[in-house]
Amino acid sequence: MTLTQLRRKRVVFELKSAKDYGRERRGRLLEAIRLFEEAVNTEAFDSRVLEYRSFFGSRLSETRGLTQEEVLIAYKAWPGGEVTRSKIIVPLRLQLELEDGCGVYGFVRGGKPKIHTYSSFFDRASPSWMAGHLAHEFAHVAGFSHRECTRLTRRHTVPYAIGEIVWEIAEDIVEESE
Ligand SMILES: [Zn+2]
Repeated sequence: MTLTQLRRKRVVFELKSAKDYGRERRGRLLEAIRLFEEAVNTEAFDSRVLEYRSFFGSRLSETRGLTQEEVLIAYKAWPGGEVTRSKIIVPLRLQLELEDGCGVYGFVRGGKPKIHTYSSFFDRASPSWMAGHLAHEFAHVAGFSHRECTRLTRRHTVPYAIGEIVWEIAEDIVEESE
């Protein structure tokens, strides 16, 4: 699909499984998913990925040679998504890892679209921060990676940049609704 075709469709997340989140965490999880969904459907999301520049002027890094437009198209391919005339319905499979991630928020395995999140992160994260984490992990599912060691440039990799964009848009959505 071209970007123009993609932009006409609304992304809708459908929660298929939320293993080990339990009842007491479910409300915050659903709020995070709602914010993630709202954020990726904004004009601001598309334009901020397309026009990404860091404070120092650098563009997205570790893009596998793709332009920023191609990155956005790859990100919005949503693996497993069902494409209808007006929507892309994306199944979400989530799992809470009941252990301390030691600073790591979560992970995906081998590009599989199942997102693992450490409870040590989830329990202190706001729903918009969690939305950013889900967005970050989706970038891994879409095939983008980052090195762990280079903290300064890591921010500009696709997973970190998109995670931050979604987090910021989600924060705006929360503020506007208050
Ligand atoms: Zn990552």
